[in-house]
Parts: sequence; C-alpha cells; structure tokens
Amino acid sequence: MLNECETLMLDMDGTVLDLAYDNYVWKELVPEHYAEAKGLSIDVARNRLYAKYHAIQGDIQWYCLDHWSERLGLDVLELHRGVNHRIDYLPGARDFLHALREHHVRVMLVTNSHPDTLALKDEVTGLAEYFDAIYTSHQFGYAKERQEFWHALQEEEGFRRESTLFVDDNQTVLKSADTYGLSRLVEINHPDTSEPARETSAYTSVTGVADLLSS
Ligand SMILES: [Mg+2]
Repeated sequence: MLNECETLMLDMDGTVLDLAYDNYVWKELVPEHYAEAKGLSIDVARNRLYAKYHAIQGDIQWYCLDHWSERLGLDVLELHRGVNHRIDYLPGARDFLHALREHHVRVMLVTNSHPDTLALKDEVTGLAEYFDAIYTSHQFGYAKERQEFWHALQEEEGFRRESTLFVDDNQTVLKSADTYGLSRLVEINHPDTSEPARETSAYTSVTGVADLLSS
C-alpha cells in the first residue's frame, strides 16, 4: 500500500499516539475539575460537559484549548501538562515511523490538535522528528471535517490526491477526505488502548499503523 504512494498523511491522536490520553483528560480529568470548580456532582458535571462537547464536535472550536479554558473557567492546558506521563505512542507506531525512513514517501502529520497540545506531545514523544511536514487545522481555521481545510492544505502542499494515502481514526474526517477526492483512505480501528477495538469500520481498516507495512 505504501509503495504505491508518494505522500502519506497521518493523523496524530488515535493514529500515531494513544487516544487513551485524550479520553482520560476529557472524560475524567476535566469533568473532575469542572465538578469541583462548580460544586457539582461528577455525574452532573460530566453530563453538562458532554452536552457542550457534543454541540460543537467536529468544529475547530471543539479542538481549541483556549475556547475550553475560557468557557469552563479551567486551565485546560495545565490539566494536560499535569498528566503528561500518560502520553504515549500507540503499539508499534514509533517503529513504524522509524521504518518509514526506508520508504520514498513524504510523511506528513495532519492533525486537528491545538498547537499547544501538539507541542506538549512532541515534548514527551519527540514525534516531530519523523515528519517531513506538520500541519494543524488551527493554522487554517477549519477542522479536517471541513472541505475548506483540504483546499487550504492543497494550496500549501500541492499534493496529488491519487497518490496520497491518508490515515485517521475518525470516520467523519475520513468522509471529509473522501469527499475532497482522496481515494486511498485507511481507518485505524484501535485508537485507544484502554478500550476494545472497534468492530465496524466505514473504510479499509487496520488495527494500527504498523499494519500498513505489511498490507
Ligand atoms: Mg484522531
């Protein structure tokens, strides 16, 4: 699969890095701190937060730390930092990135991550060294779920759709890439090691990026 491509675009969270960290922060840590700050029970806090999350899911603001810090009255970046020992690669992902050096392919990180969490994750894992280019949707002002993102990325990179392999764990994002005209799409079906793998996938799927080398 890789040998036929000149460009490989990889998502970060849930594709290269374990989504268990992000899920822990947003589903456990933020609700705990929000409950404490507002004097709510954890269940009420979690329900309120999930409603807020849900309302803007897939929107650039959903991925924006500043938005959440302001909206919740919490220093969300500081919460991330406090548990940075939980940041880790998905199984086999680091070896995979290392092995890519033997392939003649342009390797791009294409993420919805806020620049601050991207920097924090690079600090902990050193992942940036494996990429020829790094793009976060925040620099364009549109999440990967939006067509505007792909047009802006195209303007920057001039990639060829037919020879680009795009890998992501988010089906809405894959659908957006599909609509844009990327035809080589792979879904990661085990993005979070603290949860079981997904049983159904909308696209060609692999457990983790390491499987791309053998497929
Ligand atoms: Mg992801």
